[in-house]
Amino acid sequence: MTAGEAVVRIPRTAASPRSVTILGSTGSIGTSTVDLLDRNPGAFTVEALTANGNVALLIEQARRLRPRLAVVGDERKYAELKAALAGSGIETAAGEAALIDAAVRPADWVMAAIVGAAGLAPTLAAVRRGVVVALANKECLVCAGELVLAEVARSGATLLPVDSEHSAIFQVFDFERREAIERIILTASGGPFRTLDKASMAAVTPAQAVAHPNWSMGAKISADSATMMNKGLEVIEAHHLFGMPEERIEVVVHPQSVVHSLVAYVDGSVLAQLGSPDMRTPIAYAMRWPERMAAPSPRLDLAAIGELTFEQPDPIRFPALRVAREALRAGGGSPTVLNAANEIAVGGFLAGRIGFLDIVAVVEGTLAAMPGGVPRTLDDVWALDAEARRAAENLVARSGN
Ligand code: NAD
Ligand code: MG
Repeated sequence: MTAGEAVVRIPRTAASPRSVTILGSTGSIGTSTVDLLDRNPGAFTVEALTANGNVALLIEQARRLRPRLAVVGDERKYAELKAALAGSGIETAAGEAALIDAAVRPADWVMAAIVGAAGLAPTLAAVRRGVVVALANKECLVCAGELVLAEVARSGATLLPVDSEHSAIFQVFDFERREAIERIILTASGGPFRTLDKASMAAVTPAQAVAHPNWSMGAKISADSATMMNKGLEVIEAHHLFGMPEERIEVVVHPQSVVHSLVAYVDGSVLAQLGSPDMRTPIAYAMRWPERMAAPSPRLDLAAIGELTFEQPDPIRFPALRVAREALRAGGGSPTVLNAANEIAVGGFLAGRIGFLDIVAVVEGTLAAMPGGVPRTLDDVWALDAEARRAAENLVARSGN
């Protein structure tokens, strides 16, 4: 794909999902998606639900939503799943291959909400069926953007962004007049440490890092928001989804998380999408696109909010954005390495093995230590991902106390 093309296109037909699969149904995005299904009884049937370890919630969701298939990634949890759903008529399975089987089942609409590169194979399996894939899993596009886009083009799948910023851009991006678009502007909350000085940042705990001021999210993305690596990953995600070169993707810190992102046009107009910070709005948009469906997100009360503010991201306290931009500009395997190293570093931080400021240092160190190279196949991506994880793991072990 060259810059200027985009993977998301104007629909030819309304894509009203009837049968749906949720990959990662027990997570933050997964449970928000389930909430929308619960509020629309009869409008959807559920093909498959998958989880990694939270088998109790998966069982509860399966009993209520009656999917044809329920899959738990962690094989040690299989006995519990099987016993609980015995006699229900719901098929059960476990393990990595079963996650892919779930994605292959004939749903019209698949929510890709597994966290991390672990979601890549199931997401690709859904894309290859040429259906509508609602993409929450940004790491897929970061670690294998070109390959995912090639599969989308080949299969005719429709990739709909779920990330709030990308959903916002999608809603105000004039796909038929791309030449009129000057740049896109991603907003960032700035996370829980937006105003903290660097010395204090060195001492923050995992609990403080995952306590996001505006959004309730899974631990990994919350930590990414705290380092602002999340925004770096989102710049790469936006580059792939909207075919925009890195230098035309701007980031502005907007602590209220009300303006979800903006598109600037050549005539000086800037279009934005606004809403309360509740993921059920972008999820609902992706569920019924190009129609709209009701979502219970709190209504925006602008007078009550009173003030919307914007500021430049601080490159000294939040170097992640620069590191991610450099990886995108370097291209080839660099974004794959960035993503893998970040997953290891965040895991190390959440486990108390390294400090908060070590996260981005480990990512940058891994990028510096890895040879270049362009992954051309999925196997290349996996090999590079594994190598980057080993290199990052070494750095985590060395920077640990
Ligand atoms: P989460 O940790 O709350 O949930 C992750 C889900 O994936 C769970 O169902 C978990 O069981 C499953 N999972 C985890 N590891 C797995 C593995 N190895 N194999 C199979 N399944 C596995 O995460 P989340 O906050 O819901 O985020 C999911 C994705 O959506 C991430 O890529 C994140 O960046 C993206 N996203 C989330 C939000 C948000 O508000 N939570 C917003 C934008 C984008
Ligand atoms: Mg986002």
